[in-house]
Amino acid sequence: MQNDAFANALAQFEIAEDLLELEENIAVQLKSPQKLLRVSVPVKMDDGRLRVFTGYRSQFNDARGPFKGGIRFHPEVNESEVMALSAWMTWKTAVVGLPLGGGKGGVIVNPAELSEGELERLSRGYIDAIYKLIGPEVDVPAPDVYTNPKIMGWMLDEYEKLVGRQQKSVITGKPLSIGGSQARGYSTAQGAVYVLDEAVNRIGLERGASVAIQGFGNAGAFMAKLLAKEGYKIIALSDSKGAIMDVGGLDVAQVAEHKKRSGSVAGFPGSRAIEDILSLETDILVPAALENSINEANAGLIRAKLIIELANGPVTPEADKILEEKNILVVPDILANAGGVAVSYFEQVQNSYNYYWSEAEVLAKLEETMKRSFEEAWAEKEKHKTSMRMGAYVLAVGRVAQAMRDRGRI
Ligand code: NAD
Repeated sequence: MQNDAFANALAQFEIAEDLLELEENIAVQLKSPQKLLRVSVPVKMDDGRLRVFTGYRSQFNDARGPFKGGIRFHPEVNESEVMALSAWMTWKTAVVGLPLGGGKGGVIVNPAELSEGELERLSRGYIDAIYKLIGPEVDVPAPDVYTNPKIMGWMLDEYEKLVGRQQKSVITGKPLSIGGSQARGYSTAQGAVYVLDEAVNRIGLERGASVAIQGFGNAGAFMAKLLAKEGYKIIALSDSKGAIMDVGGLDVAQVAEHKKRSGSVAGFPGSRAIEDILSLETDILVPAALENSINEANAGLIRAKLIIELANGPVTPEADKILEEKNILVVPDILANAGGVAVSYFEQVQNSYNYYWSEAEVLAKLEETMKRSFEEAWAEKEKHKTSMRMGAYVLAVGRVAQAMRDRGRI
């Protein structure tokens, strides 16, 4: 199936499998999740009707540590997507050297159509359905698309009620008042900025380089703010309702204000509406929305010199080939957006100690993690004369495979 997320994840894995000459007994185990749960979540709606939502939790691999990965609330969630995201989480935690595995969850729902009360009942209901499968030493969820710290707070509360004790490290991305970490809110974007700085140096771009960002949600909006602060010129932004451009540079704080008021970046005063943000003349392109946005049909039109994958799976394997031929450097999702899970891990560590770090301490650890991982992935890219994606995959898959050998899972 074209643009089937899990098929794409497998295609990427198989290239790394060949580069690493991975033994068959390990490779076969890394082609499907260890466990896949599908649940029905009944929710009493405000009008008294009962609706049943479908949810998933995919536990891909736990050789290096507990499964770890977000929960997505989106109308297009499906089994293939959840499995792919859980595989990518496995490689992501490994590429940045965290002692964690990979998992992912999701519920098929458009949260914008729910009232606050309905959303809370759905969030608690999802935990009721999966709580026996998660835990600080088993599987640790976090936010993803259309879920946020408030939802994590409800989920934590529900889990603790069910198990009858405090267990803050069962979930990350929590509000600060109940065990969240400093910097977690913008950690994905901050981590991506650290690797972007490294990539910019490698290919000789300037600090003032132009940037276009697709998706202005949690990850994309923070990325825009942080890059603008660092002196990059944000020339285009988009969300699900439209795309805007200003070659002179957009005022990101004001765009955020405008979006708060109107619900979209579209119509920002002084900007020009554009049809397609991906094919713009820009130095750096940051896909920060959903999977498959850069595919066989549009990869040939891309003019950026550098792509930083803030979203998960935004470039299909077919598009990867085209971008490689065009000599465009792609910093892959499993590395570029790993800052979120890195700080999630720091959050868990702080919960276990019940002792909390300052924002500066968290950022110092994040910077070290991201820059070291970029260097290590780059070294693999050079060693195997391959793409940056495959450099990162070789590093990650190699680490997971070693943990499996050491556990005797062979
Ligand atoms: P979000 O829900 O906060 O934002 C998603 C954004 O994408 C919204 O602005 C939405 O309008 C926009 N969007 C949706 N469809 C679009 C389209 N067709 N064109 C342009 N924009 C579109 O979600 P998020 O947390 O920012 O996640 C975005 C991506 O980053 C996802 O792939 C997610 O898995 C990945 N990611 C997020 C985190 C995190 O910590 N938030 C961590 C790692 C990876």
